[in-house]
Amino acid sequence: MNKTIAVVKGDGIGPEIVGEAIKVLEAIGKKYGHSFTFTDVLAGGCAIDQTGEPLPQESIDICLKSDSVLLGAVGGPKWDNLEGSRRPEKALLGLRSALGLFANIRPSKLFKSLEDACPLSRESVQNGLDLVIVRELIGGLYFGDRKTYLDENGVETAVDTLIYNEKEIERIARVAFDMARKRRKKVTSVDKANILDTSRLWRKVLHRVAEEYPDVEFNDMLVDNTAMQLVRNPGQFDVIVTENMFGDILSDEASMVTGSIGMIPSSSLGEGSRGLYEPIHGSAPDIAGQDKANPIATILSAAMMLRYSFDMEKEAADIENAVSKVLDMGYRTGDIMSEGMKQVSGSEMGRLVVENL
Ligand code: NAD
Repeated sequence: MNKTIAVVKGDGIGPEIVGEAIKVLEAIGKKYGHSFTFTDVLAGGCAIDQTGEPLPQESIDICLKSDSVLLGAVGGPKWDNLEGSRRPEKALLGLRSALGLFANIRPSKLFKSLEDACPLSRESVQNGLDLVIVRELIGGLYFGDRKTYLDENGVETAVDTLIYNEKEIERIARVAFDMARKRRKKVTSVDKANILDTSRLWRKVLHRVAEEYPDVEFNDMLVDNTAMQLVRNPGQFDVIVTENMFGDILSDEASMVTGSIGMIPSSSLGEGSRGLYEPIHGSAPDIAGQDKANPIATILSAAMMLRYSFDMEKEAADIENAVSKVLDMGYRTGDIMSEGMKQVSGSEMGRLVVENL
């Protein structure tokens, strides 16, 4: 298969970690007879330096023409004092909206050999931890009308609007059920239907969609209970689907239990198969250019691209197994280093993953 990939290396450690992920993609392509064509795209601080804007139109056009997009990270202290619309982070929002990405997917998986880095008790993770949070990304409270005003008594007051329509809910529900079919076939829908009207609509639509997926086990859970269950027994979850704000909070909670920010991939998906794949961490300016950055989150993001955009399940699993093997052999970058392990640089970690494919 031939696939085109737009590559946004970005700033800070971005070019280093993306470089390692590309080596892994090239190696997997060779092994399975696929060819990947990579096109560099300017976005973020480096784009501001070269063109004066964080996301030039040409970059958007290349992403729109590509089969998928791989992103490192953008931003850094050099651009911190620019005004809002010219900040590097604008590139991320611009890309999400230009590509129509409404679903954010964040897996949380605890690698056996990193169990010591997990802050939960052994008892809590005895059923393992391998879940995905599917978060609605462009609706709800973060996108509804808001204002701050003085009420009739002169008291400063603020209002944010939480709004969803059934179409927005239905399309994110389908992403979750389709994803569950590629995993352990279980969906938990998270809401606050005992209080919120939007949650009652959410629940109604989720139940309707669930009927079309009789092979997928389905349950509802209130968001407060979910927050508790994620630390009590995260092994009960396979795919969690929820609205924007609940997803924002729960996905940070779920990612922390895996130990290190350098390990967690993510993807954002829209209507078609094209997605934006990126690690959840930032550009880590404190370690940029020192070959210290852990490339695993980006390598696992590339694996997600193979699975969800290119339908290459075997190839994706192969990459994940190679990462697991390298960790089992005791190799660690600085961020996940512990006593008795062998510390390696970011590029050595990338090379080890390629070697173990
Ligand atoms: P950060 O995630 O960049 O770094 C937080 C800490 O984690 C740092 O100590 C860093 O060294 C470490 N770290 C992060 N990734 C690592 C890796 N792969 N390997 C080893 N250690 C790693 O968060 P921050 O410091 O708050 O932000 C730095 C810059 O990144 C800011 O300009 C911020 O706006 C930007 N940012 C970008 C994105 C993105 O591009 N998606 C996301 C978050 C932050």
